[in-house]
Amino acid sequence: MADIRLEGVGHSYDGGTTWALKPMTWTWRTSRAYALLGPSGCGKTTLLNIISGLITPTAGRIFFDDRDVTDVPTAGRNIAQVFQFPVLYEEMSVYDNLAFPLRNRKYPKAEIDQRVRQVSRLLGLDHLLRRRSRRLDPGRQQIVSLGRGLVRSQVAAVLLDEPLTVVDPALKWTLRSKLKEIHRDTGHTLIYVTHDQTEALTFADEVVVLNEGAIVQAGEPAELFLSPSHEFVGHFIGSPGMNMVPAEIVGDVVRVGQADVGSVADGLPPGPVRIGVRPEFVSFTRASPGVAARVTGVDRMGAYDLVHTQVGEHPVIARTTAGSGYRPDAEAFLHFPPDRTFLFRDQVRCGFL
Ligand code: ATP
Repeated sequence: MADIRLEGVGHSYDGGTTWALKPMTWTWRTSRAYALLGPSGCGKTTLLNIISGLITPTAGRIFFDDRDVTDVPTAGRNIAQVFQFPVLYEEMSVYDNLAFPLRNRKYPKAEIDQRVRQVSRLLGLDHLLRRRSRRLDPGRQQIVSLGRGLVRSQVAAVLLDEPLTVVDPALKWTLRSKLKEIHRDTGHTLIYVTHDQTEALTFADEVVVLNEGAIVQAGEPAELFLSPSHEFVGHFIGSPGMNMVPAEIVGDVVRVGQADVGSVADGLPPGPVRIGVRPEFVSFTRASPGVAARVTGVDRMGAYDLVHTQVGEHPVIARTTAGSGYRPDAEAFLHFPPDRTFLFRDQVRCGFL
């Protein structure tokens, strides 16, 4: 196992006109479980393929510890990969499919048996070991593919590209927690690609958020939720995402329309900003000094309510306890708590309220 270091690594598919992945310097630390999270087309698969050696980057160098592997093909990198759809020998039994990567690398027979049984037990495949793979449904086949990716004890990294897409939603929760258990046991470096924030946040030690070919923020799940450093992370993480309200710094106060919503630390120049606050942290006060708002609708979600309001022309959603009793057209005053309300300029966080 090794740290995987990208030094100025970038990739263009069109001879340098556009970057699918903008040149980046970044280290994947050994034994950590990463989620690589971002919307469709942001460059996740390109980045994964560069690590595995399926793509040679058009810029920069890639190192496994101090070994430069930029020109080393996939076979020489000791990487395990799990793709979106099952990749199995259909005529082989589940046992033989799981044992294949180990036999291929000449693991001792006893270790092969022990690893296959351990992984199959954790993934709930132990009663299917003798079954031919083609006789399994696609969801089970994908779990076998997952097992094949995780079965080797010695790999530089395990790369998982949206591995649970074809798995039944109810099973996904179980499998993610199994994956964590296997990770604790093996200490593999895992890089798990997904566009699903729930998958990323529940699985990873560290979430790397990619947008338009660049890493916008990386951190522990709670850090990304509580302290986004970029508007994109505020929007993309959270359900619904962070409220963004245009505001103005005048002297040392922040104004939304005519209302003062708080003061700012010294040194922040006057001018337009955007206030970011998550629905979970917006609360209602009975009167000023809150921000005057009008309720436009309420979504009753069962466990909680989402109260939609309008501050001037700008929508702000507040998440409240279920049965909050707010009705459309009611007047309300919103409170933005200072320690959970951020200021953004040019999409980048520039301060707190
Ligand atoms: P998705 O979640 O949809 O798979 P992604 O985040 O994995 O997307 P990539 O597949 O890495 O993104 O694509 C990044 C950009 O590069 C996109 O604009 C895509 O259209 C482009 N791209 C990807 N593969 C190729 C290719 N083989 N030739 C040309 N352009 C490509």
